Amino acid sequence: MKKAELYAHVERFSRDNKLKPDQYPRNALAVSTQYGLTVHYAEFTSDRIRGVALISDNLTILNYRLLPRQRNYFAAHELVHHDNHGDIKTEFYCSVGNPDNRKYYEWEANEGAAEFLVPYKSLLPTIKCNIRDIHSPDDMEVFRTNLAKQFNVPKQTIYYRMERLKYAIYQYLGGTPLSQLVIISHKEQESRGISVNSLNDVYDEML
Ligand SMILES: [Zn+2]
Repeated sequence: MKKAELYAHVERFSRDNKLKPDQYPRNALAVSTQYGLTVHYAEFTSDRIRGVALISDNLTILNYRLLPRQRNYFAAHELVHHDNHGDIKTEFYCSVGNPDNRKYYEWEANEGAAEFLVPYKSLLPTIKCNIRDIHSPDDMEVFRTNLAKQFNVPKQTIYYRMERLKYAIYQYLGGTPLSQLVIISHKEQESRGISVNSLNDVYDEML
């Protein structure tokens, strides 16, 4: 699945679960339960493991050490594994630094969770409304902090969102309507010779 298809899939999933793009923060734990999953917390032998999706058992297990916003993020991450791979009846052990053979699945779950919790159709207009008031790296940091609170995700998720969506943000701030944005991965941007700076880069360069 390519990035644009994954986003369309997440949008359909959200609609099916009666969530609107302008309705946030989203509670991935509540949606998991609504979807028919059981969510448990456990102490794992390795703290690197953040969460586990046991597909056959409709079970998500989260590391009990996760902070509330991390729980929301990883509940969404495991939910994407369940929803996209209910057919393969496997188990996903999600940690920091996943083995190469699972890289695609982890990309899908990370990108899908980020889009589910921070939909680009909500994020981009919020950025456009606020960008004129962001004049320094400190302003940018405050903005990211506020967004993280608003969307109930770790601050890192907002940082990565700005990286992953940099080409979409660039197009949108340049006047392209949301419905006409070209959503492509970093890899595809490279192969098309497209190189733009993320907002993180733009403000970091002021330092
Ligand atoms: Zn995973």
